[in-house]
Amino acid sequence: MKKDFTKIFRSRYPLINNDAIQNPDVLKEEGNIIDLVDEKGNFLAKGYYGIQNKGRGWVLSFNQNEVIDQAFFEKKIKVALTERKALFEDPDTTAFRVFNGGGDGIGGLIIDYYDGYYVMSWYSEGIYKFKEYVIQSLTNAGDPRGIYEKKRFDSKGTYIEDDDFVTGERASFPLIVKENGIKFAIYLNDGAMVGVFLDQRDVRQTIRDKYANGKSVLNTFSYTGAFSVAAALGGATKTTSVDLANRSKAKTIEHFSINEIDYEAQDIIVEDVFHYFKYAVKKQLAFDMVILDPPSFARSKKHTFSAGKDYPELLKQAISITNNNGVIVASTNCSTFGMKKFKSFIEKAFKETGGKYSILEEYSLPSDFKTSKDFKEGNYLKVVFIKKIN
Ligand code: SAH
Repeated sequence: MKKDFTKIFRSRYPLINNDAIQNPDVLKEEGNIIDLVDEKGNFLAKGYYGIQNKGRGWVLSFNQNEVIDQAFFEKKIKVALTERKALFEDPDTTAFRVFNGGGDGIGGLIIDYYDGYYVMSWYSEGIYKFKEYVIQSLTNAGDPRGIYEKKRFDSKGTYIEDDDFVTGERASFPLIVKENGIKFAIYLNDGAMVGVFLDQRDVRQTIRDKYANGKSVLNTFSYTGAFSVAAALGGATKTTSVDLANRSKAKTIEHFSINEIDYEAQDIIVEDVFHYFKYAVKKQLAFDMVILDPPSFARSKKHTFSAGKDYPELLKQAISITNNNGVIVASTNCSTFGMKKFKSFIEKAFKETGGKYSILEEYSLPSDFKTSKDFKEGNYLKVVFIKKIN
């Protein structure tokens, strides 16, 4: 490790950044176990070599004598499963995260649980080399009906299209899971995304239980309509879901239907959100609740959206179609800025529209998305409930 970087590993930083490596030529095959040493050869940490964005692998242990084998993986996975015991025992929640990468001690590996089925996500060719250890651990400790996987390490670091079934029983789809009683239709073998983002569980519950009743709700970047369903179940007078992707409409109808909500009483619109805002302003539409959950970065035909740059502008548009005393739920999964900066975006947007606001509540990742204090970037989710005052 270069001199400037030895300190961060001594304070237990887990990501092996490309810039930290003095002699990258020694890295041969992804999946190799490597020792990180300082300039004098003193041991710093032990990890694996795997290419993931700017990372070249993850620290697995700060103990020189630790052996990285089946038992190591199984121990980490067992601890993680035990920590999710309350979720496994909750009959109203059958989908959640059981292993969250570095937060649970193995960077580059994520495991989600969908009613008996596990989905392993591999973020590098390197971590993928440990596949048999992980399958064995889940089989020994997790009582799987079946196991699926997502290989997220093509040359651009994205998903590799494949048959994602690995072992056990194949599930029949849609697999209906529950989250605090809300049903979701899950497809484990249909590309990178399975139908719901599990990290918003607490936010969906809050919308349903505390904010939706009697309210008109606009859900932008709605994907499969999960927030709309939560709002409708919470007594929203009407929901409007807007997403650019064609597939979002059928998926949203399906989600309303399995929750016994009449989808024809809801609006489901396939359109660019920025175009919809213009339309809404022109038609003088206004909502009691506006949900914003854009991707960190997106390019549509007319628009490039980058959360770190354009979020204030997005908020301004939302403010213009939110009723007084209405609520804006602003969410971002962008890991390049933190809550403080996100709040400065909110401040900026209200300042420029000349309105007042108060922050009602804030959320970050739920407890099953375990993060490490040594790797702050892992705690990416920021959700703020904002009340528009006038
Ligand atoms: N809020 C969703 C997740 C959003 S994922 C949920 O809770 O499940 C981001 C979504 O934004 C994707 O479905 C993508 O199709 C959509 N999207 C990206 N750019 C868009 C744009 N300009 N207008 C509308 N939708 C967009």
